[in-house]
Amino acid sequence: MAGHGTEIAELESWQRELRAQFPIVVDHPALVYLDSAATAQKPRAVLDAVQRYLTTSNANAGRGAYPWANATTALVEDARERVKRFLGDPAPDRSSVHFTSGTSEGLRTVARDWLPELLSDGDEIVVPHRDHEANLSPWLEARDLLARRGIGVRVRELPYQEASGDYDPVELARITGPRTRFVAATHVHHVYGADMNVHRLRRVVGPDVPICLDAAQSVGHLPVAVGDLDVDFVVFSGHKALALPGTGAVWARQRRGPEFRPGGWRGTPNTVGIASLVAALDWLEAAGTDRIERWTVALTGLLTDGLSRMADAYEVLGCRTSLTADSPVQRRRSLVTFRHRAIDAHDLGFVLFDHGFMVRSDGHCQAGRDRRDDSVRVSLHVHNTPEEMERLLAVLASLQ
Ligand code: PLP
Repeated sequence: MAGHGTEIAELESWQRELRAQFPIVVDHPALVYLDSAATAQKPRAVLDAVQRYLTTSNANAGRGAYPWANATTALVEDARERVKRFLGDPAPDRSSVHFTSGTSEGLRTVARDWLPELLSDGDEIVVPHRDHEANLSPWLEARDLLARRGIGVRVRELPYQEASGDYDPVELARITGPRTRFVAATHVHHVYGADMNVHRLRRVVGPDVPICLDAAQSVGHLPVAVGDLDVDFVVFSGHKALALPGTGAVWARQRRGPEFRPGGWRGTPNTVGIASLVAALDWLEAAGTDRIERWTVALTGLLTDGLSRMADAYEVLGCRTSLTADSPVQRRRSLVTFRHRAIDAHDLGFVLFDHGFMVRSDGHCQAGRDRRDDSVRVSLHVHNTPEEMERLLAVLASLQ
């Protein structure tokens, strides 16, 4: 616990100030929200921005020439630039941002409106089979659509390293070749909390293969710099990054393959969601995503340390090498998933709620999962505290 203790001590007063800005957290002291990976709670600044927009300039975007309509059109256009800046886009004039309802719609948009144009008969794409279902089914649907047009595309499985839980660059090099046209990957795994080390993919597949990144569990939790990651698409959920439900975006760099021209959402955009996203990104940037990452990694460290002391009763899923306190190999980002060796995951979820803890207990929409794989996921954001982790561990210890 010592390593995490230093991080926690350094960040404690910064965190206390931020926690106080989440009304729903402050107003429910008996409850502990541990499901931020599903959707995040909203700080006051986001709620204020929503109210401000709806009470000062609510109108439709791209239509009308009166001041509220102009303000809303400008809001949407400025929001695209805000997303680019937040992602550290080094060439914002050569990229575009398309707003969606979340990561699922974003990935589906890339798969439906862009990928088919890229592919010819005999091509191959590499996609993850053990990540979120939303990052598998759209690619399989694109393959099936092309097959109906007589274009055969082979789907290969993005390989994993069993010990560390991230992608395996050596195995990837073995399965890719001149027919590899596209790679889909995930930044942070939504069940294992592993950083999938996607920056290593570019070196393996070379400069010409577009890479699409599911950043649902990283945007808002840690710095996401598209220049360093060297990917072509970043798809994320605004609602997991402190913005309103039904909010998300696709960032696309027009560098490889056909131009990204999303066909969806030609009607009224989610203007209030976009207003909330701008406020959320401003808030996250001011708070510092690097510090948010340090804080939540310290808390997941407390949790995995505690669970590893109860290894007879609990199995922590994924990245086995991080089970020791200070493993440099793989530290879980903002979430930890585990199973009780004797208590059903759903029952454990109910018991935890009896003690005020709101966790997710199911299969977490993981592709290819089996009902027997169900587990409890504890996912954090900056409002969570070490005391909450200690209280949770005490309840888990009582169930050993
Ligand atoms: N991808 C990952 C890694 C996720 O964790 C999630 C959320 O559960 C999704 C995709 C789907 O996100 P949304 O519900 O915003 O479409």
